[in-house]
Amino acid sequence: MSSQAFSIRYLGRESKLDYKLYEEVASGEKIESRKEMQKLLRHVEDQLYDGVVVMDIDRLGRGENKDWALIKDTFLNSETVIITPNKIYDLEIDNDDVSFDFMSIFARIEYKMIKRRMKQGKEAGAKKGMWTNGKPPFPYYYDKNTRSVLVDETKRPIYRAIVEKYLNGTNLGHIAIWLTDNKIPTPYNIKPDGKNKGWSNITVQRLLASEIHLGYITYGKIRSKRGQVELVPEEERIKVMGTHEKLKTPEEHEVIMERLLKNRMLNPNSRSNIFPLSGLLYCEKCGSRMRFRVGENKKQGQYWSALCYHQYKDGSKCEQRGKVMDADFFNALYDRIIHVDPNILREIELHGSRYNDTQAIIEVKEQELKKAEAGAGQAA
Ligand SMILES: [Zn+2]
Repeated sequence: MSSQAFSIRYLGRESKLDYKLYEEVASGEKIESRKEMQKLLRHVEDQLYDGVVVMDIDRLGRGENKDWALIKDTFLNSETVIITPNKIYDLEIDNDDVSFDFMSIFARIEYKMIKRRMKQGKEAGAKKGMWTNGKPPFPYYYDKNTRSVLVDETKRPIYRAIVEKYLNGTNLGHIAIWLTDNKIPTPYNIKPDGKNKGWSNITVQRLLASEIHLGYITYGKIRSKRGQVELVPEEERIKVMGTHEKLKTPEEHEVIMERLLKNRMLNPNSRSNIFPLSGLLYCEKCGSRMRFRVGENKKQGQYWSALCYHQYKDGSKCEQRGKVMDADFFNALYDRIIHVDPNILREIELHGSRYNDTQAIIEVKEQELKKAEAGAGQAA
């Protein structure tokens, strides 16, 4: 039991109050990942308690403005007080309301400072050529003991075969088929249900184009801004020579990049028949990728709808209903049913112009989001 929980139990016993303990095991940033917090808020909303005891106001929330607003609303509407060892906050009383706001702002600033320090630590590590990016690409692995990136000897010949096949004229598709046929586990393409769906052209392409195999470490390709994932412009990224083993020469890399570029120019529209949001929408209820279907009726003419076909292990179907992708749908997109997969953003980066539509949509939505947040106060 944590010392927090111990103190709370002590408070509960001494005050001879009936109480229930909520202890978060996970330490997620947002309320959506904090199961106990969600439960507590539901119970507060249902007016199960007169008050909630916390050691400190900052234990309630983390960095998110949205979360603090939700916490405050819940306590205010249910007329539940917040009890800390120093003070009882009754949000219906003006003074308490103001001090709650102050405390929550401090909590947010503190959280941001912790996050910034962690980021600075990562950047400093990256500048020294240390690996800070989580799982390295095929055929490397991260060795915890030596804290370094090493080559998996069983995968090394496979990686080299990919490079040599491509240099010798085998196309991406044939390399992908060769890898899948030889039952080589894929580095990226794991579906939400944990099944491996085999190698794709994109996976092979991403592997071939990677600068990590040239010996580089890049840091800060993607950042999260106001809860949205976005790409960092090339010039703002940190790129240094790492200490891991190089697996291709700069000459090989140059030939690879030239051929990839040529292929792109030869087949500019090879994927243009795919709906621009393909792979970007995930079901809110089950987390599966949404699929798209084109429909037609007299009133609307042709329209797209997004559907979830997910089936749970027990055979029951996901209860997500199809959504017609009209103007309202797009307006609600970023708030409601999606998150942007960082892998997809990498693909967008690789494909550039091919995904212009998608990028345009993302940009428009980001602008709207910025406007909306400017209206809602300072951003987290
Ligand atoms: Zn679903």
